[in-house]
Amino acid sequence: MKDIKILQNLFSAIEGYISTDKEMEIGHGESPEELIALLDLEKSGNREDPQVLSYWIDKYLKYCVKTHHYGFSNRMWAGANIPSIAGEIVTAISQTSAGSYEAAPVSILMEKFMIDEMLKLVRFTDGEGQMTTGSSNANMVAMMTARNLFSSRVKSAGLFGQQELYAFVSADAHYSLDKTINILGIGLDHLIKIPVTPKGEMDIPILEEKIEEIIRLGGNPFFVAATLGTTVRGSYDPLPSILELKEKYGFWLHGDGAWGGSAIFSDTLKEKYLQGIESLDSFTVDFHKMPGTALICNVLLFNNRRGIMDFACNVGDKSYLHRKEDSGGDYNLGAHSLQCGRKVDSLKWFLDWKYYQKEGFGERIEKYHKLAELGEQIILASDELEMLVPRASFNLCFRYKVKDNINEFNRELRNELQKSGKILVAYGFIGQDLTLRLLLTHKDMDEALLSDFFKTLIDAGNKLRRLYE
Ligand SMILES: *Cc1c(COP(=O)(O)O)cnc(C)c1O
Repeated sequence: MKDIKILQNLFSAIEGYISTDKEMEIGHGESPEELIALLDLEKSGNREDPQVLSYWIDKYLKYCVKTHHYGFSNRMWAGANIPSIAGEIVTAISQTSAGSYEAAPVSILMEKFMIDEMLKLVRFTDGEGQMTTGSSNANMVAMMTARNLFSSRVKSAGLFGQQELYAFVSADAHYSLDKTINILGIGLDHLIKIPVTPKGEMDIPILEEKIEEIIRLGGNPFFVAATLGTTVRGSYDPLPSILELKEKYGFWLHGDGAWGGSAIFSDTLKEKYLQGIESLDSFTVDFHKMPGTALICNVLLFNNRRGIMDFACNVGDKSYLHRKEDSGGDYNLGAHSLQCGRKVDSLKWFLDWKYYQKEGFGERIEKYHKLAELGEQIILASDELEMLVPRASFNLCFRYKVKDNINEFNRELRNELQKSGKILVAYGFIGQDLTLRLLLTHKDMDEALLSDFFKTLIDAGNKLRRLYE
């Protein structure tokens, strides 16, 4: 009885939260001290009283950042797709771990189904894949696989007494590759960062020079990660040229498509940005970024080497859990995962896929791309704003123009907007310059909302400039 009451209360809280309210604000950027005072976490109520739960859930929803607000452009995702939220709720209710077929048969078959859908889309043949805890982790599993394949002794002997390994990424690659090379014991000095061209793409002649240099010094260039949509600028490393080098030097080529890999859903954008993707060794894309599936939802795919995950990842005692001889034993995805307990991430993904379908995701990604073009035009046409670098794909790196202290001004502008509750925009640096970074990932974003966004931003900038002058 009480359990049902708790869930009923929850549903009315959820309804209140997601119903679109024009007056809704994103949040106000309270400091930890302010928020600690507002939350009053010490407060207690009656034991096992459903009202206590309602009280805290309301508090949580009141003070959390409203990521489903149109002005939330702070991360590479915004509010999640409702079908995937439904999936998350069912996942919680039916609580299981997606490692063994025995305990999670439906989830595992859905995961395998979705991986096959993705393999077809990317046109990997004889491939396989797994859902991981995000692209950071996927990048790591990809590099680990390349490492273990490069030298079959690594798995047992470790890196002791091995020739030195070197990996290559662009200077704008995601920091998870630094984490990866640290975790894998290869070492940060062995991650060679290749400068980018003025367009933000890996400079291929320099990549080749560096590979040659490492070979001359007796090292092994075993791994290159092409970033397919860099985090700050949205640039795509040129796959066809890197594939020529792969042919020549034989390294493992991974595509980090966490952000821009979503172009895969649109035939035109795939043609534009992802030529050669079918020849990668591995590829990852986050469904929780542009596609809008609830966090966390990621897939890592391997090309041409069915069985490689078993070879690279499967170690340790399988006597109590991942027994091949059990019914469904070949479906024990946990054996190839770095985790033991695995959250069910497949259901929400599957529900989104069935609901929107490939075409729906394609249209959505194309819409974001068109809106990014439009946003660029708005910036170029405005007297107040400027692009910091030209648009490479989906990301808009821009700032409000002032003569002095431009970095401080833009940081202040961003903070003012945050306090207003209307816009929470990301920022980063390109060289020494602070850039506001507009990432369009709200599924309902349209032209009218986008021009509202710029109007709010420019108005706040004008107001702040008058204070500064
Ligand atoms: C976001 C991002 C990542 C990290 O993805 P997570 O799912 O947050 O771990 C990796 N690479 C790129 C290019 C990204 O944009």
